[in-house]
Amino acid sequence: MTHSESRQQLLSLKVLESQPGGRCIVNGKNVIGLCSNNYLGLASHPALKQASQQAIERYGCSTSAARLLGGVSKIQVELEEELAKFKSTEAALVFTSGYTANLGTIPALVANSETIFSDQLNHGSIIDGCRLSGATVNIYPHLNPRAVETKLAEAKGKKLIVTDTVFSMDGDIAPIPELVTLAKKYDALLMVDDAHGSGILGEHGKGALEHFHLEGSCEIVLGTLGKALGSIGGFIGASRGLVDLVSSNARSLLFTTTLPPGTVAASLEALRVLREEPELREKLWKNTAHFRQRLDNKGIRAHSQTPIIPILVGKTSDAKEMSNLLFSKDVFVSYVGYPYVPEGQARLRTIVSAQHSIDDLSYAADAIGEAAEELGINV
Ligand SMILES: *Cc1c(COP(=O)(O)O)cnc(C)c1O
Repeated sequence: MTHSESRQQLLSLKVLESQPGGRCIVNGKNVIGLCSNNYLGLASHPALKQASQQAIERYGCSTSAARLLGGVSKIQVELEEELAKFKSTEAALVFTSGYTANLGTIPALVANSETIFSDQLNHGSIIDGCRLSGATVNIYPHLNPRAVETKLAEAKGKKLIVTDTVFSMDGDIAPIPELVTLAKKYDALLMVDDAHGSGILGEHGKGALEHFHLEGSCEIVLGTLGKALGSIGGFIGASRGLVDLVSSNARSLLFTTTLPPGTVAASLEALRVLREEPELREKLWKNTAHFRQRLDNKGIRAHSQTPIIPILVGKTSDAKEMSNLLFSKDVFVSYVGYPYVPEGQARLRTIVSAQHSIDDLSYAADAIGEAAEELGINV
């Protein structure tokens, strides 16, 4: 995507006029929504809304201060305690978003003369955090940390290995057991960004480390409250020592207002719902299997291990045309081009949610097949 193309995408923004969900109102139209990260439907869950309203009544709409300057509400302390339990870490620290969590945490952990090892397809917020740190960054081929094993062995001083758990544009999962082994062997810190794993992966939805039965085996787990958890905010889980280090050094925390109480309360409630309504997660995976199968039946390549199912189109202009045609068929799926993905790998990124009905998913998969055929695009 060139600058003018990305400007075009901005000018033709589709605007949500309802709650995000499997069905939503976009630009005045009732559509099947396949863009939202609201995997479990928690953004519109009655319990989250109620908790949020009650917190606003009690604490107001804003903390109106930064963390160290009086901006920590009692429910934020509670949220940090619950997040530490959720991630099986000693302590946790809340940021205003996953983006600012990466931006603040990575430079707080490693400095100029030190070394970072980062997956080629890591999220933009990890990339920006690495740049800000000033450390030497070794980018390894996607999912293949062993390719830089020699460099890992040779690097002097502090080393950090950092990876997405679920890659946000491809839906594949990082080789975490291998990363844990490498980090141990070469005495590196391991940081995993579980933005798309939290709430979804693992028997209790605790994320990628639970999925691999490796809870407690990496130093820093980062997450977002803005995806499956249906709220907004970011966090890290780590030892008390690392949390103290990051909370006193992360500039993206020191120089910004803390999250408003309403969203903090929604996040706390989301953690309770995750524990008490496992059926949401079951429905999500059932829906995911159905949608993938239906695409497969239509001859559409839909390789993915998670509810993020990219449909590779190639050219950004083709992806855009397909997205527009699908919208006219009442299916809302955004296209993703450069700079989100490399040039030539534009795609429709579909995301399945527990809120979708099986019928809507069947309809959407069929519509994707028809749109590709009508436009003569090979997917
Ligand atoms: C979405 C995402 C983020 C950013 O989280 P926000 O809370 O939306 O700022 C960070 N890392 C990864 C891997 C993500 O997918």
